[in-house]
Amino acid sequence: MRLVKLIANLGYGSRKEIQQAIRHGWVTDREGNALKADAKTAHEDILFDDEPLDPAIGMVLLLNKPLGYTCSIKDQGKLVYDLLPDRYRVRKPVLSTIGRLDKETSGALLFTDDGALLHRVISPKAEVPKIYEAELDRPLNGSEAAVFASGELMLENEHKPLKPAELDVIDDTHVRLTLHEGRYHQVRRMFAAIGNHVNTLQRTQIGKLDLTGVAEGEWKMLSESDVAKVF
Ligand code: URA
Repeated sequence: MRLVKLIANLGYGSRKEIQQAIRHGWVTDREGNALKADAKTAHEDILFDDEPLDPAIGMVLLLNKPLGYTCSIKDQGKLVYDLLPDRYRVRKPVLSTIGRLDKETSGALLFTDDGALLHRVISPKAEVPKIYEAELDRPLNGSEAAVFASGELMLENEHKPLKPAELDVIDDTHVRLTLHEGRYHQVRRMFAAIGNHVNTLQRTQIGKLDLTGVAEGEWKMLSESDVAKVF
């Protein structure tokens, strides 16, 4: 029974479906031997449909989020979870996004089932840098980098100025912006505060982790060394 509960908790199917999978011999060890429901095989040696089981805890995924997807597990319209295997929507512990991106922002979005890791990434103390590329409606006037770096810019309806952020100019309507905090719609509101408008926005990097090898709409499971790049 341990095996049924373990695999069902990971979201591969209901307990009944997992019992059937075991009966059909779809749950095996690495040598291809079918496992019985009372098998004591170590988690990392169990295969489901010839694929190793997801880890029980400590998963981190990187999704290259396309435009038009909402960072929510239940909502109207297209959801970021639609881009992941169905089991990731129902597994226990829950796989949550680490922070959010707006529906109309694309790029790097992390998911994890590890609450401590989630807090380490989003904690204001951690100051994990997040890098965005934006296309602006109006040409830059040359004062933006200094305003963003000042640590004095105040967003509407907020009581605390923003932390200094670094602006790199790509050309007069394209910029790269590095933030060390994550306030609601921060990039769009920063440009709105100085009289410009963000037309398109992509998060290209979280810490030193970028989207190399992950095409738009695709995802990958991060290795320990990938996760280390975030901090
Ligand atoms: N800033 C924004 O305005 N939107 C995002 O999705 C992320 C940062």
